[in-house]
Formats: sequence, structure tokens, C-alpha cells
Amino acid sequence: MKLILLGAPGAGKGTQAEILCDRLEIPTISTGNILRAAVKNGTPTGLKAKAFMDAGQLVPDEVIIGIISERLQEDDCKNGYILDGVPRTIAQAEALEKAGILFDAVVSIEISDETIMNRMSGRRVCESCGASYHVVAVPPKQEGVCDRCGGKLVQRKDDAPETVKSRLDVYHQETEPLKDFYARRNLLKTVENQSTVEATTAAILKVLEA
Ligand code: AMP
Repeated sequence: MKLILLGAPGAGKGTQAEILCDRLEIPTISTGNILRAAVKNGTPTGLKAKAFMDAGQLVPDEVIIGIISERLQEDDCKNGYILDGVPRTIAQAEALEKAGILFDAVVSIEISDETIMNRMSGRRVCESCGASYHVVAVPPKQEGVCDRCGGKLVQRKDDAPETVKSRLDVYHQETEPLKDFYARRNLLKTVENQSTVEATTAAILKVLEA
């Protein structure tokens, strides 16, 4: 299964991707997580990406295309993968297609901007493994500590309200057109955000079976 998860920042792509990768036994590839690790480690890619990320802007397509083509060649991707947060522009989608990287389905999680603005203030991510939590909706067993790896949970810099607003603007302008792009290829499946994480997972699995 080769799957793309689409949706606005804060739609729950990361959370759903983590659940789905366990269920479907395929890796999740999150360019956001790869970039945050690069920034933390001060790599050349991280140095290039940091200012864009802090401002809530997209990192240039060529950087992303380089990261993703390299990652998809790794052994664990042989049986499929879930892409979380990529492609994010038509140019990225076209580059994947040109490289012969095709998908079985593209699931778009639909959610209003207002719900996202309310939701983002409670999001926490693990600084070590990138797992995401929410202080109310998906709390860790122990406050501030990752259930998976024991790492420290922190608030992302780009989850500040003004930055979330810019990220939503960028989403509507640059990423939302991908829905049409994949609808034209008969791959698009839309799922309404549900009131619980489990219900959204169930809705995604249902459209994937259909
Ligand atoms: P995310 O964790 O997916 O919300 O990504 C966090 C930030 O990383 C974004 O706001 C962008 O600055 C950058 N980023 C992640 N994925 C991409 C992508 N596919 N294209 C461009 N920028 C990206």
C-alpha cells in the first residue's frame, strides 16, 4: 500500500500516520519529522530549512524532492509507505510522478480552520522520535514524556497562533490544489475529521477498503 495523507497542518495526519503504519505494517515518512531532525542536528539541509519552518513557510521543492527520493529508496519502503506532509505542492507531486513513484490512494482529512486554530495550542511532539500528542485529545501516559521512547515532549515553535495562521494560508494556496490533482487521477478519498482519533482512523480504513 502506497498512501499519501493530505490535510491542513494540525488535521491529525501525523497521529493517523503513526496508527496506520502499525496496522498496515509499512513505514511512515514525514518530511516535517525528517526536517526537524535535520535542524536539531545542524545538518546542511537543516540549516537551509530552519528559517522557512520557523516562519511557517514551505521549504523549497528541490530540498524536499531530494529528501524524499533518497528516503523512498531505503529497504523498509519496499512493501509500501505512508507519506505524511508530502507532497505539499503541485511541483512536488509532479516530481514524484516523473520519478515513477505512484500511489494506491490519497486520503485527505477535512477539517475547518477554526477547529485547527483551537487544536494546535495543545499539540506536543517528542523531541527524540517525533511522535505527536495533544494535552487533551491524545495525552501521554506521563505528562511531558513520550510513551514510545521516553523522550521529552515539547511544543513546536511553528505551533504559535500567528505561525499556524500563515501555515493555513500556505496550505490553502499551495497544498489544497493537490486534491484536484489526485482526483483527476481517481486516487482521492476524503474523510471528515471525527471527534476522536479512533473514529477518524476507522473512517480512513473504511475508505481504503472501499
Ligand atoms: P509538518 O510537520 O508536516 O507540519 O511540517 C513542518 C514544516 O516543515 C512545514 O511548515 C514546512 O516548513 C516544512 N515542510 C515539511 N514538509 C514539507 C514539504 N513537503 N514541502 C515543503 N515544506 C515542508
